Amino acid sequence: MLQTIAGFDRIGEENAFAVLARATELAIAGQDIINLGIGQPDFKTPEHIVEAAIKALRDGHHGYTPATGIAPLREAVSADLLKRHGVETDPDQVLIVPGGKVTMFMAILMFGELGADILYPDPGFPIYRSMIEFTGARPVPVPIREENDFAFSAEETLALITDKTRLLILNSPANPTGGVTPRAEIEKLVAGLQNHPGVAVMSDEIYSQMTYDGMEHVSLLEFESLRDRLILLDGWSKTYAMTGWRMGFSLWPDALFNKARKLAVNAWSCVNAPAQYAGLAALTGPQDDVASMVAEFDARRQVIVDGLNAIDGISCRSPRGAFYAYPNITGTGWKSKQLASALLEEAGVATIGGPDFGTLGEGYIRLSYANSTENIKTALNRVKHFLNDNSKSK
Ligand code: PLP
Repeated sequence: MLQTIAGFDRIGEENAFAVLARATELAIAGQDIINLGIGQPDFKTPEHIVEAAIKALRDGHHGYTPATGIAPLREAVSADLLKRHGVETDPDQVLIVPGGKVTMFMAILMFGELGADILYPDPGFPIYRSMIEFTGARPVPVPIREENDFAFSAEETLALITDKTRLLILNSPANPTGGVTPRAEIEKLVAGLQNHPGVAVMSDEIYSQMTYDGMEHVSLLEFESLRDRLILLDGWSKTYAMTGWRMGFSLWPDALFNKARKLAVNAWSCVNAPAQYAGLAALTGPQDDVASMVAEFDARRQVIVDGLNAIDGISCRSPRGAFYAYPNITGTGWKSKQLASALLEEAGVATIGGPDFGTLGEGYIRLSYANSTENIKTALNRVKHFLNDNSKSK
């Protein structure tokens, strides 16, 4: 009998990938499936970015790079952070990693062990909890509430910190809710964190460029008082339609950078070289594609929110960021996971049940609007008819 460590009895996964697999299976079997399950832009990676990767290969950039990433890319990340957040950073603290997920993996590994507490948003990206449990640390959910417009509450977050808390995970704009936490709330949290200097903060800002209705994205990087304990997670996947390239970056405080670098050396040596050149072209080239993708998401957001609110039993707040709608479905009488599963199997619409994002997820489903307006409209029609024909409400 092979005996692996206990963490593997606790590690979870991301149900969005299981739904994607099932949706693909049904599509191959001939069913017409509209996938609003997976969170990835339906746009192509902009042409100049693709060309940069091809050119890099032709120019002979096919070997190992430094484990931390190629120097011009780390410098470009610093320049990008200055441009977007108005904050000076040292390129020597930038680590290029294979995808946004990798930063959370490293940060949670660094702080998680038996006896430690790690705070994370619930509902939230499922890998936070999965990795916390893997390490043996206690996952402490920070409730993210609909009545708070899915922003995190500084007061509730601070109240959960104890002397066991090692790491606080924040995410705004947020998956799965689309919630964006306003500046005043973030300032309150940062002020409160001054009383807890031993708590590290990992801010997942992978959707930092996707906000709507004039809502500003506030980066935790802006707060000087946190700089010696802030891990910033960001990357190319969502902003530049590059999910499959596996390109992310993180910024680490001095005390942690070398630990992160060593993990990188132990695990993947370096990120795919041509992908790094593509990432460089993305940051230094024209940003028009980003603006037009975000404008298109915004238009679809309005279609999906209006469409969902027109269905009996469903109510949906207007998400202020990312590309997810997170409607409350309690009025339908359906349980979230049963509804998501029935919609896929019987109506040909892939969505994700709220409980896949945490204990507070019951009563909600997540729909990604990273799909064409036409598909979104057809999907909503299917949901409407399905619920009319399969009513569970009195
Ligand atoms: N963080 C959040 C909140 C996400 O929603 C995702 C992807 O869905 C990631 C991180 C991971 O991004 P990547 O695909 O670059 O690993």
